Amino acid sequence: MVCPRCGATLPEGTNFCPVCGSNLNASARTNSGQPGWQQPGYSQSNYQQPGWQQSGYPQNNNQQPGWRQSSYQQPGWQTPQPGYQYGQNQRPYAANMPMSWYKFLIYFALWAGGILNILGSVNYFSSPALLNILYGLVCVAAGAFAIYTRYRLAQFRTDGPMCLYITYGIQGAAPLAYAVLFALFYYPSSSLFASAIGAVVGSGIMVALNHIYFQKRARLFVN
Ligand SMILES: [Zn+2]
Repeated sequence: MVCPRCGATLPEGTNFCPVCGSNLNASARTNSGQPGWQQPGYSQSNYQQPGWQQSGYPQNNNQQPGWRQSSYQQPGWQTPQPGYQYGQNQRPYAANMPMSWYKFLIYFALWAGGILNILGSVNYFSSPALLNILYGLVCVAAGAFAIYTRYRLAQFRTDGPMCLYITYGIQGAAPLAYAVLFALFYYPSSSLFASAIGAVVGSGIMVALNHIYFQKRARLFVN
């Protein structure tokens, strides 16, 4: 779908445009809506913040006819951030924020990781040991959750980044739990522990880096 206000290309099912903040449900009804687009993030904080009207404007100015219009219709107030360019399809999502990693995640990495998790579970299901069958189920669940995360991110859901951290967390925690349980039930396997520690370190780094990345883009996840 395409945002009727700014022209950004967005996934189907997006309620709020993360580029210009317009309410896509409302603007579908009202023509590129003045009412709708005020809702998320940007303008709400300016509009409905208690005290916004007081700051800089003495109380008695509120009654003055016209002050409201002049401040609301100031040219430029509709621009959420300098650098936004409406009506340009070339720069979707955020005009001045690189999104290559985000696109890599939703179009490749989470699909590939999720499918590999599910395919990898076959190895564990082929063993009769209960621990292996349980771990195979965990692999299927982890793979399904990675693909779920892909959709939460693609639709700019507010919990999308958190889902991603959980996905990475599972990738680290599950091999570690498997290595510990394997040691308890059978024997301590140094190769299992070595790969588990690698997975824990790797997923910890990924959570930290992605947290930095998505913190900077938190305002995009408005749905
Ligand atoms: Zn838009």
